[in-house]
Amino acid sequence: MNFTPLFTEPFKQKGPAYWFLFSGQNLLVDPSDGMVPYLTDMTELNLKPIRRQYLGALNGRSCYSVELAGDADPPEGMVFQRLRDLFDTMDETFCRIAGLGLQIVHWDQTHQYCGRCGAPTRNKDDERAKLCPKCGLVSYPRISPAIIVAIVKDHQILLARTNRSPTKKGLIAGYVEAGETLEECVRREVREEVGIEVRNIRYFGSQSWPFPSSLMIAFTAEYASGEIRIDKSEIIDADWFAAENLPENPKEGGIGGRLIDWFVDALDA
Ligand SMILES: [Zn+2]
Repeated sequence: MNFTPLFTEPFKQKGPAYWFLFSGQNLLVDPSDGMVPYLTDMTELNLKPIRRQYLGALNGRSCYSVELAGDADPPEGMVFQRLRDLFDTMDETFCRIAGLGLQIVHWDQTHQYCGRCGAPTRNKDDERAKLCPKCGLVSYPRISPAIIVAIVKDHQILLARTNRSPTKKGLIAGYVEAGETLEECVRREVREEVGIEVRNIRYFGSQSWPFPSSLMIAFTAEYASGEIRIDKSEIIDADWFAAENLPENPKEGGIGGRLIDWFVDALDA
């Protein structure tokens, strides 16, 4: 499948389009096949759109995102599902479009007025941006970078349980702060959350993380020094785990799961 992101419709298209309809962070899907509605006219669904955005073309067919009310009822035979839960099961291309859609819906919703002078904004004609007609401020979709890091010591990996997801042992992660490099962010997050120092920080990969507007940048690192000392406001517990000893987790999807696979595979190699 071939998806081309676009911010305006290149031409008025006849025929069906793909509709990515969001109620909060929940996407409307058919539970039998996980697909989004594919319709010529979304009024068939009897839902009240708040705003609609063009996302691009999938195999020549238009894709739209639509913001619905937070309490919208799904049409018969369909359900609203948390996009985050769909992220591991949905077709990769649909997942990418849905992720883009959620970010654009969120951006459109939160940039109706200029952040500098408060005047109503309008969409720019030549790029995905909002323009303030009064003071000229241009606002792009905001992307907040976050790091996630696999720390290895003597063939063991550091996993922690956080207050945010207490049922799962996962990797250290956190948002990049203003003025920081990615490597500085890795060192700071690791130091703050588990009190150790790391070295040999290496880029691993990245993943769009549209909840609602992040980019997850993954690293590997080696333990350098210190004893685990957890920040109790964020971390419940943290420890080193050998590959044959990894805790039973709910399936870790996305780049965090790929980092753990990397650790396991590195030992087999
Ligand atoms: Zn303005």
